[in-house]
Amino acid sequence: MASANSDAYLEVDNLVKYFGDDKAVDGISFGIPEGSFLTLLGPSGCGKTTTLMSIAGLHTIDGGRIKVGETVFTSPKEGLFLPPEKRDIGMVFQSYAIWPHMTVAENVAYPLEIRKWNQSDIDDRVAEVLKLVGLTDWANSLATNLSGGQQQRASLARAIVSSPSLLLFDEPLSNLDLKLRETMRVELKRIQAEVGITSIYVTHDQSEALVMSDEIIVMSKGKIEQRGGPVEIYSKPVNEYVSNFIGVANLMKGKVIEASEPGKGTVEVVQEGQKVLLPCRLGPGIGAGEDAVLSVRPENVHAVLDGGEGPVTGECTHAIFLGSYVDCRVKWGDFEWKVISHPRNHPRAGDKVNLRFDSEHTLAVQP
Ligand code: ATP
Repeated sequence: MASANSDAYLEVDNLVKYFGDDKAVDGISFGIPEGSFLTLLGPSGCGKTTTLMSIAGLHTIDGGRIKVGETVFTSPKEGLFLPPEKRDIGMVFQSYAIWPHMTVAENVAYPLEIRKWNQSDIDDRVAEVLKLVGLTDWANSLATNLSGGQQQRASLARAIVSSPSLLLFDEPLSNLDLKLRETMRVELKRIQAEVGITSIYVTHDQSEALVMSDEIIVMSKGKIEQRGGPVEIYSKPVNEYVSNFIGVANLMKGKVIEASEPGKGTVEVVQEGQKVLLPCRLGPGIGAGEDAVLSVRPENVHAVLDGGEGPVTGECTHAIFLGSYVDCRVKWGDFEWKVISHPRNHPRAGDKVNLRFDSEHTLAVQP
């Protein structure tokens, strides 16, 4: 579990936030290094936005401490609360929140005007930032004449123009259509990396989180379930919740019957009386004799087609050709395995199929 880290640039320590009697954020702690991109990921209502708003100072908090660099943003126990306008934060929301009666350049210049920059510095900086976000040719257009994607670029330009200490994103791409969202993910990440501003990004979209983040925090019910880089979160989920929330996984109740060298063991799964033992990796907190959930990604289940053996024998119920891969289902008792096969070598509906597993990518995790 993540904890606040004294070397971190942003430190959130034991943050608690109630709405009435409901605990929206339940004592979460994390620290992030300067310049990095962290995503808070989880389903609706898990407390992501509340965490973000608490960092921004748009919510007061009930417990804990938030600090950026040497500045304590808030700490109720110490009676500290820095108002939002003093926190030096840029924000980009789902709604573009740009002013319709102003041109793009005027929108972007605004944060510098309130900081009383002189006009020629403002002009230079606005031109620089508009170039960075690809809006140079739109500088003098009314903001409302821009497309959704361009409006979001303008909001980003306005958020970064004063080089804030922190950039906060709350589902900024969710109003865009899928194709634009995919382009903008890469663009946002490129721009963030170029300006190097420490960023926290809130989304419920796991693929967005995987594409953009240096690190991801997966949240549920106001708590942190797991924190790690995209590859770690995907390939070593610590429990059933994370396995299920990120990507697709074959999940089945099982029992760890043996734990050998650290982190390795054997899990037993049973279907209609057929008992199968699979060598596996053990997730944190899982030991011999314990109930666990078997978690295997579809690309790590191998359909054996050359007559070779495999611990599980089932029947292929369908095989859908999707260009670069074939999405197969293999029925084993009541359980249907999701299996990704190669288009040149895959089972067909009706085939009897043996399945093989690679112990490195077969996990037994906490239910
Ligand atoms: P979403 O993506 O739907 O915003 P989220 O993970 O960001 O989800 P939060 O918005 O942080 O979740 O909400 C966490 C909990 O706090 C939810 O139960 C929500 O109903 C509650 N909540 C959030 N804001 C308020 C508020 N202003 N007043 C009362 N309850 C709130």
